[in-house]
Amino acid sequence: MRLLIMGPPGAGKGTQGELLARRLGIPRHSTGDILRQALRDGTPMGLEAKRYMHAGELVPDDVILGIVGEALAHEESEPGFLLDGFPRTVAQAEGLRKLLLDQGQKLDAIVDLSVPDDEIMKRLSTRGRKDDLLETIQRRLEVYGKKKKPLLDFYAARGVRIVSVEGVGDIDDIQADILERLSL
Ligand code: AMP
Repeated sequence: MRLLIMGPPGAGKGTQGELLARRLGIPRHSTGDILRQALRDGTPMGLEAKRYMHAGELVPDDVILGIVGEALAHEESEPGFLLDGFPRTVAQAEGLRKLLLDQGQKLDAIVDLSVPDDEIMKRLSTRGRKDDLLETIQRRLEVYGKKKKPLLDFYAARGVRIVSVEGVGDIDDIQADILERLSL
């Protein structure tokens, strides 16, 4: 299966995405995790991404598409994959469509995790990651709020199945909900 998991920062995309990917036996590629690793490793890409990440802004599309192109070209992605935190812009969605088209593939579904803003603020202000400062969280939420609808519209217009799940409550219950909605 080829899946995307979307949701605001702190919605549990990582947790739910990991559980889902493990169950399906497919890799999970998180652009946020890859960027954070690049930052820790001090690579040129990490250095370029740093200022955007720390400000809660989006890293430029060409950098992100480079990361995803590499992840999808890997043979472990052949049977399918779950992308977490990507695409975040219509340009990225367009880039992904082209990457998949080149390989004769298409997306099967999108999991859209929703969590109210006040719950997100509560979760993230206790998580303690570098980009989890109050101001940065607010900016990340704002950016997500602005980009979400055009992205969902992009996929709805192309007939991709969108599965909307409330990301509040017990982790296993949310996962069960996702599996059920995906008919798995
Ligand atoms: P995340 O862990 O997915 O919330 O990502 C953390 C940060 O990495 C984001 O706030 C962005 O600065 C950057 N980032 C991750 N994925 C993307 C993406 N698809 N497009 C642009 N920036 C991204």
